[in-house]
Amino acid sequence: MTDDSKSAANRAARNEKKEAYLRAIYDRYTTEFRATGDQDLLSVARNTHMAMDELLQRDRAKNPGSENIQCGKGCNHCCREAVEIWPQEAALLAGVVRDTGMMLDMARLERQSRFTVDTWRQQPMTDKACLFLGSDGACTVYESRPNACRKLLVVTDPALCDAEQSKPDSVGRWFSWEAELMESAALEVFGAALMPGALLAALHAK
Ligand code: SF4
Repeated sequence: MTDDSKSAANRAARNEKKEAYLRAIYDRYTTEFRATGDQDLLSVARNTHMAMDELLQRDRAKNPGSENIQCGKGCNHCCREAVEIWPQEAALLAGVVRDTGMMLDMARLERQSRFTVDTWRQQPMTDKACLFLGSDGACTVYESRPNACRKLLVVTDPALCDAEQSKPDSVGRWFSWEAELMESAALEVFGAALMPGALLAALHAK
């Protein structure tokens, strides 16, 4: 075997090992989420949010690059993008709306619900913002925000997150493989929908 073919074989073996490792994490989460079948929606959402926070905290502590994360209160370009959530998160958000008496712009929510991931950016700029984005630029449901929002962290200038002004590849993300896999497993097991449609359904549910 030549040196080149040896290093290609080593690389393939490393990739295979990494794939198996990631697959095992994904399978662990799908099994865990499938086992929540009998639990109430709000507990599943809260427990999964707590697990995501703990995971991100643990991975950030291990990864020196995370000290460059720039996200902060009032920085919110990402709150104008399509956000996928699962039904338990929609139920939690609907509960917050009901419990706090929050007034939502239902006409805008209805309009938003007609868009898909592919067509989201065709909305007028004034319609795109998440209904939970406050006038001060902060999230009004921060404690109950979906995991898609919790795990979205950038290490570049927040101004570059403005999709109207910058190219998507100009944004540098810090991410945890495990957080990505946890969220993929949740979307797969619980079901994925864009936040406006899922929230409307949860608000109309008895
Ligand atoms: S739920 Fe909060 S963090 Fe998530 S998109 Fe809406 S305003 Fe932004």
